[in-house]
Amino acid sequence: MTISNHVFPETINEMLSHLKEPGSKILAGGTGLALMSSGVDTLVDLQQLKLSYIRTDKEKLLVGGMTSSYDIFRHEEMPASLRKAADSIGDLPLLHGVTIGGNLAILYPWVDLPPMLWALNARITLYDPEERKFSADEFFAYSDEQSVGNRNALITEIEIPKTPPNSFADYQTLTLIGNEKAQLNLATNFTWDANKMITQANMIVSAAVRFPKRLECEKIIVGSTIDDELIERAVESVENEAIVPNYKSSKEYRREVLGVYVKRALKKCQEVMEN
Ligand SMILES: Cc1cc2nc3c(=O)[nH]c(=O)nc-3n(C[C@H](O)[C@H](O)[C@H](O)COP(=O)(O)OP(=O)(O)OC[C@H]3O[C@@H](n4cnc5c(N)ncnc54)[C@H](O)[C@@H]3O)c2cc1C
Repeated sequence: MTISNHVFPETINEMLSHLKEPGSKILAGGTGLALMSSGVDTLVDLQQLKLSYIRTDKEKLLVGGMTSSYDIFRHEEMPASLRKAADSIGDLPLLHGVTIGGNLAILYPWVDLPPMLWALNARITLYDPEERKFSADEFFAYSDEQSVGNRNALITEIEIPKTPPNSFADYQTLTLIGNEKAQLNLATNFTWDANKMITQANMIVSAAVRFPKRLECEKIIVGSTIDDELIERAVESVENEAIVPNYKSSKEYRREVLGVYVKRALKKCQEVMEN
């Protein structure tokens, strides 16, 4: 790759005008640089935009688009499920490099933060070129049409609601050797009412499907209480998911593990509910 120019805009407007130039590409943590197409003339560096921060109030955390996955992993007020997802990214140098904006901008099958952010009902602010705020459902529909990275849009902030009482979120990931890229991820987040009836079931599968998606079994879980019969029906419904294989794990193997993860997520939620 030949790069002729490397610029450091100091304002969003300056940034956006660079992005309009043909052959320009955003540089955040730089870990995806090797995967970028060869047609990059100008690297537009986000370093000077002051987008690396985590701010909290009673209801939410606001995370700047340049915040590293290491900072997310370390932050004590971050939901434990998101810290677990960040910790799955790999070794320490990678954790320091990968930013939350970069992880969301190009949804490679193996990325860890996006499915958990979706399950946690995060909201994403981006410029394309006007400022827009997306719910997680809207953001993933928009990215499925075309990724943020390919649109040369700019993610500036992610809003993560604080975990309410009567809720349980978790992240499960399948790797075949140590820290390698994931074969399957399942991000879950359940809430329930005083009668232990599930009022929200967010179950996002990624890596083993073409694009991150909600599991079909969410529909039978919402409005039910968790018991063995419900768990069995949820696991059975995994049969209808469009799982894709890769050279390391077959469709059948991934489907089997997804069923185990669904069961485990519901069992853990049931345990938390009982205690
Ligand atoms: C060997 C290896 C293993 C990896 N394993 C994992 C893993 O297991 N799990 C995981 O989650 N990730 C993993 N990654 C990281 C992942 O593949 C991407 O490299 C990473 O998400 C890119 O983030 P970045 O901040 O480094 O972005 P950069 O590499 O700097 O940017 C890449 C592109 O993303 C877009 N972009 C970046 N930031 C923004 C923004 N704020 N707004 C809009 N667009 C933006 C731009 O198009 C930019 O050109 C791995 C990377 C490597 C090299």
